Amino acid sequence: NDRVRMFGIDFHSFTMSQTVSRLLQWSSEPEYGCRYVVTPNVDHVVKFQTDAALREAYQDASLVTVDGKPVLWASRLLGKRLPALVPGSDLCPALFDAAKVAPELRVFLLGAAEGVAVRAADTIAKRWPWIKVVGCFSPPMGFNALSADNPAVVEMINQAKPDILLVGLGAPKQELWVHAMQHQLQVKVALCVGATIDFLAG
Ligand code: UDP
Repeated sequence: NDRVRMFGIDFHSFTMSQTVSRLLQWSSEPEYGCRYVVTPNVDHVVKFQTDAALREAYQDASLVTVDGKPVLWASRLLGKRLPALVPGSDLCPALFDAAKVAPELRVFLLGAAEGVAVRAADTIAKRWPWIKVVGCFSPPMGFNALSADNPAVVEMINQAKPDILLVGLGAPKQELWVHAMQHQLQVKVALCVGATIDFLAG
């Protein structure tokens, strides 16, 4: 069994490299199944207890990895021993590194403040030239992820045909949005990555 249940959440007991391998495997499958990955930290674990919509979003996630040492420590205290931290901010660079020897990976960046995703795309082009950034969009401030603006955003993403969609809209907005749009989004895997697009932008 590769799952560990803590605070009602079924975490995957995966190392960083196991997570990266799984993402590359899913990215190379022909179907646009829109699997998605969430990386709960303590803040999210607390929100999860009182937010039914977030619970549903987590239930349908294909991968749940640990973001933040306190959650990892808790796993040790509870005798469940999750093997590693796999936060989005480390997972994305590790995935991009590993993709060097994989078929070309198409990536779309959604989120962060206006203009930031474009800067993150520049960083990726310089540092990981084998990654193809097929689009990026930072929604204007006040963007309601679950509003009627959505079809246009989903359409923009689908037309770009990404393998990997990075969604940095902050938690729980990003998880709720991906869960709501899962069946419309034509991507292989969506990663709910919090502030990772900001980190990539530098
Ligand atoms: N963000 C956004 N729209 C919002 C709220 C946040 O695009 O309505 C972006 C924000 O610019 C940042 C990212 O979401 O790039 C992560 O936000 P947060 O501070 O929640 O980070 P987390 O704690 O989830 O890593």
